[in-house]
Amino acid sequence: MARIYLDNNATTAMRPEVAEAMAGLSAGCYGNPSTLYCVGRDAHTQMERARDIIAGILGSSRDEIVFTSGGTESDNLSVFGVTRALRKKGNHVITTRIEHHAVLNPCKMLEKDGWNVTYLPVDSYGIVDTKAVEEAITDKTVLISVMHANNEVGTIQPIAEIGKIAKERKITFHTDAVQTFAKVPTKVDELGVDLLSASSHKIYGPKGVGFLYVRKGTKIMPIMYGGHQERSLRPGTENVPGIVGMGKAAELMAAEAEAEEARLLKMRERLWEGIKTNIPHVRLHGHPEKRLAGTLNIAFEFAEGESLILGLDEYEICVASGSACTSDSLEPSHVLSAMGIPPEGAHGTLRISLGRENAEADVDMLLEVLPKVVGNLRSFSPLYKEYLRKQAAG
Ligand code: PLP
Repeated sequence: MARIYLDNNATTAMRPEVAEAMAGLSAGCYGNPSTLYCVGRDAHTQMERARDIIAGILGSSRDEIVFTSGGTESDNLSVFGVTRALRKKGNHVITTRIEHHAVLNPCKMLEKDGWNVTYLPVDSYGIVDTKAVEEAITDKTVLISVMHANNEVGTIQPIAEIGKIAKERKITFHTDAVQTFAKVPTKVDELGVDLLSASSHKIYGPKGVGFLYVRKGTKIMPIMYGGHQERSLRPGTENVPGIVGMGKAAELMAAEAEAEEARLLKMRERLWEGIKTNIPHVRLHGHPEKRLAGTLNIAFEFAEGESLILGLDEYEICVASGSACTSDSLEPSHVLSAMGIPPEGAHGTLRISLGRENAEADVDMLLEVLPKVVGNLRSFSPLYKEYLRKQAAG
């Protein structure tokens, strides 16, 4: 039986064209891109080509792109870099309760250093109220950080509306676009962002590489010190093969984004219809429309998330519970909690995230296997037995 990978929000398989582009970095391209002689210049040229591709997708200029080691570093650089640069201006940051830990944990560190952080609530779909953003602003606010799309439930935030507010109030605005870059429109002027984080391994590129878009004029300081690479904002010799791979991945993803979104949406809806029809006591988390095309976060009452994952794994079907980063913890997901879902509802949750390698046959297979796995687990559940007993008693 072929493996079915349905965890594309955690990471994606590198596409062959990307591996080819990386391998095709000619033997002469091993140079340090900061050097002046031919070997270094060649590496530099390849790296700048990737920068141009990314800038093109964002509608930015190439010198606004800072290469990093991935989404986590870009988020850390945004939070620590801006607050460090603006600490004389204020000591307040606004973010949301559903951010990735790459934003939340830096914010917690800031609090230990005496900063005030407002963690905005979200509604039951996981959407932040733009009015609440506006109301949270004080004359000490120096940064607003709101993610573009959530990695667990896929809900897409009203970034452009928040961008307008941030601009009016002259506050630096960061968005974590790790789940959206090159997949949904991310033109930085349309979103109204000053900073945007992205990561290569979510778009079928290599792992350990990403970038931070930094709008010209944004006050930000480095969080590491060393050489003058990346306009001195991110010292260290750049990961040229990784950057070239990310450039290729972004180019390919952006070119097919619209068609791929429509294809994923169709598969996702068929999958959800099938699950709803064939399995009782299921509930969908996240916004019905404002949601990433490939993401389904579903609660299965009377079943437990980890057991569901292991049950599906026996059929070589890979799905996640909550987010990949928290799957080794039994704490209920902070995102589902913020959406008002009680711990018992969050525990039986699966995140199914479709990607470009999935086909309709994968949906068919999951629809065949999932009712068996859920049914089997429920047959051992004392809570389910109790429920059935009460139903029978009327
Ligand atoms: N932000 C979001 C929304 C993510 O989904 C992830 C990864 O899961 C990250 C940040 C971290 O990115 P990276 O794995 O490139 O460090």
